Amino acid sequence: MKIPRYYYFAVAILFILFAYFSYQIFVAVQPLQVVFFDVGQGDSILIQKGTQQILIDGGPSGKTELAKLGKYLPYFDREIEIVIATHPDKDHIAGLVEVARNYRIGKVLATGAEKDTQVYKEWKDVLSYNKIETLEAARGMEVKFENFDMKIIHPQAKVNASVGDANNDSIVMRLDHGENSFLFTGDIESSAENEILDSGENIDVDILKVAHHGSKYSSSDAFLDAASPEEAVISVSKNNSYGHPTEAVLKSLQARNVEIFRTDKNGDIAYKCSNSSKQCIN
Ligand SMILES: [Zn+2]
Repeated sequence: MKIPRYYYFAVAILFILFAYFSYQIFVAVQPLQVVFFDVGQGDSILIQKGTQQILIDGGPSGKTELAKLGKYLPYFDREIEIVIATHPDKDHIAGLVEVARNYRIGKVLATGAEKDTQVYKEWKDVLSYNKIETLEAARGMEVKFENFDMKIIHPQAKVNASVGDANNDSIVMRLDHGENSFLFTGDIESSAENEILDSGENIDVDILKVAHHGSKYSSSDAFLDAASPEEAVISVSKNNSYGHPTEAVLKSLQARNVEIFRTDKNGDIAYKCSNSSKQCIN
């Protein structure tokens, strides 16, 4: 008996539909991952669900950053939906240059702050060469993904170019996923912290990325009280020349019974937030 041609066609269609829906289910049940990469003295944080990613900063080295992404991204996934450059310092954007050369980037979120450095020039060049859309972050913007959203808390308005010290204009974001929340603070110092407190934005979270690698000019008592985290993450290298994190900040956190994780001691700090569980587990 001859099998009709349309039979093969129907089987092929069924197979494609099956693969498609299996993939959709696979993505939907994936936990949200938040990984603080150990990139030495700098910041780089991956937020990932299935094949969707937000990358906050890229650390000081392209080689290290690519190795980390290779470790945590699905091997077939060469696209990062959103890259956020909190501010244009080398320890936050140098690694992003290599990311933009090796991955497709959907959009970049940055501030208008500029820096007269070689690495900042390379970063701008790679963005324009690859025609990557860049949006300027300001308070009130929201980044919406399936099952989670991020709210931009700072800077309060678009930043003028060529500010001398970009730290205080770092992008600060709040991530909510179910009952879990994170606050990402870039390198803000106390003046930005005060501005955020005055704004009345809700910064009460479970997990705090400690601002500016634990610098003594950040993490004021009032800011830590308002954030009241259960856990804090400090992204820092061993024996760095800045003395980060400072004793004062460690003591402030300990006095509030905050559990401290440090990339120089713990390596990558990876949280898994399942859709049902109340707590993100690291
Ligand atoms: Zn920094």
